[in-house]
Amino acid sequence: MKIGSVQFYKRLILTCIALMIIVPTGLCIHFAVKNSELNREVEALSLIKENIYVDEQWFASAKQTFFLDENKTEYSLEYQELYPDLYVERNEEMFDDVPNSVYLTFDDGPSPVTKDILKVLKEKDVKATFFVVYNDSSEAAELLREIAEEGHTIGVHSTTHIYSQIYSSVEAFLSDFEMTATWIEEVTGNKPEIFRFPGGSINIYNEGIYQTIIAEMLRRGYLYYDWNVDSGDAARFYSKYSIYNNVVKDIDKKDKAIVLFHDSLQKKGTLQALPDIIDSLKASGKTILPLTNQVKPITFSYIN
Ligand SMILES: [Zn+2]
Repeated sequence: MKIGSVQFYKRLILTCIALMIIVPTGLCIHFAVKNSELNREVEALSLIKENIYVDEQWFASAKQTFFLDENKTEYSLEYQELYPDLYVERNEEMFDDVPNSVYLTFDDGPSPVTKDILKVLKEKDVKATFFVVYNDSSEAAELLREIAEEGHTIGVHSTTHIYSQIYSSVEAFLSDFEMTATWIEEVTGNKPEIFRFPGGSINIYNEGIYQTIIAEMLRRGYLYYDWNVDSGDAARFYSKYSIYNNVVKDIDKKDKAIVLFHDSLQKKGTLQALPDIIDSLKASGKTILPLTNQVKPITFSYIN
């Protein structure tokens, strides 16, 4: 193609037209994207501004409602002043997790089957964790002592186990917790350091209050443990086979498992399944251990 030929000018004109279309279109797209980015930023900034406003208002009313003496330089919430002995030492730096570990936990005891559970654990040479419910009978105290003497961990579960009552306020939770914690200490001579929330740390009864309760309990040094393996023995219908399967089926996928069982007369299937569960866990190379506050907790995640 010769410069100056008709074909040359044709190409030149076509190229110019193409450029006249492509360049403005490209610029349009670029600025449209930029514009929407800036819009989003403005929106986010105004949201933040709104939140600051709400928080300031909340803070002013909270100060009036919850905080003690206005003249104090350091404010504390009233419930923080309750039960001055309800504190334990904790050192989060010292978490000491064992790989491939399983923690068997039993809620709601002591019960008429506690003795049998202890027998199985002893035969299999395994230590577990019991999250107990307050019981003022001498039989229950005897069982509690036996659990402790056998080297298992005892944690607080509840005094009343009535969800609507326990989760009605932070004060109600502390009062329920304190009675069982004191009972455990009086009977066994050891202060419990860990606990399990009735119904798990996040449930339909404690919506709106669980963050406050968790914060207060952590401030007092207590660690709580939910579970990542549910034996399913709380369900209305179960068999020793379903309990066994629920525990062992996915256990190999977990480097650390906290298993939920119940220690209760109605849960005989748990007792029946327990020996096979322990054998199977051992056969797959798991280390079965009791919980202590040196184990990093497994907890349900916050909804927001
Ligand atoms: Zn329970």
